[in-house]
Amino acid sequence: MVIAGSLTALAGNSTMPEGDALFRFAAKIRPALEGQVIRSARSHGPGPVPRVDRIVGATCTSVRSQGKNMLISFDNGLALRGHLRMYGTWKVYQPGDSWDRAESQARLVLQTDIAIVVNFSAPVIELIEERALPYHEPIARLGPNLLDDDFDAGEAFRRLRSPGLARTTIGDAIMDQRVMAGVGNIWKNETLFHCGINPWRRVGELDDDLIRAMIEKARALLRASVGKPNSLNLRRRPTMYVYMRGGQPCRRCHTLLRTAPQGIDIRHTAWCPSCQPVTDGQLEPPGRFRPARHPS
Ligand SMILES: [Zn+2]
Repeated sequence: MVIAGSLTALAGNSTMPEGDALFRFAAKIRPALEGQVIRSARSHGPGPVPRVDRIVGATCTSVRSQGKNMLISFDNGLALRGHLRMYGTWKVYQPGDSWDRAESQARLVLQTDIAIVVNFSAPVIELIEERALPYHEPIARLGPNLLDDDFDAGEAFRRLRSPGLARTTIGDAIMDQRVMAGVGNIWKNETLFHCGINPWRRVGELDDDLIRAMIEKARALLRASVGKPNSLNLRRRPTMYVYMRGGQPCRRCHTLLRTAPQGIDIRHTAWCPSCQPVTDGQLEPPGRFRPARHPS
């Protein structure tokens, strides 16, 4: 069995897995690991290589995602944390399967009696003590996890309202995993569109009701994406309205969508100038609009 985890299929042209993608990866590898004894384990560079021989013989007690992190716990008090950033992926194979990626790209290989779980190309694979996890960066500072059933919207609101973020653009702040965990570039773009918020508005310019609505919208979109009941009553993965659609007509008003790089990570932001208008006093979005080459 190979994880049907094509991130392209999950996210249009994106390769950056977000909270919903990690949730799906956890659901795929969980049956191969939970309750199973780790018969062999190995890890390879590039990057720091954890002493995964320490989990051989241990039983996996849980597999879960927290924001964009994968957390795998064992009954000897150790836990693995993986973070995929742009290029990593998780796959499950049966013994004897041929792999669809080069073994040289394997960062982590865990074998149980029923399957082989492989992480390819994750920049971060580390082994830590479970009891230290709540204090371990970046887990320690993660905001409430949007996909948790008991997600604490009040805490996310409080964090977003912290004085240090008041002058940050909402396009950057909504992806700050210390505010709330799970939103990446896809759901940033889509959430702000659905809320009619121009991405270059600063957090301090937004009123409380709008911020609360935005948090709820982000949560609903992520939940819909993984098939959970949601306040949008969506029963399937949400349609992309702006993400990767720069230069194309808005699905709602037919205005051509704009696009520009944003933030210290220079992430691609797309928005509708009509549905997400510039408001008085806000930062002017950069660049001039050039229609993308796209068949009409
Ligand atoms: Zn529009």
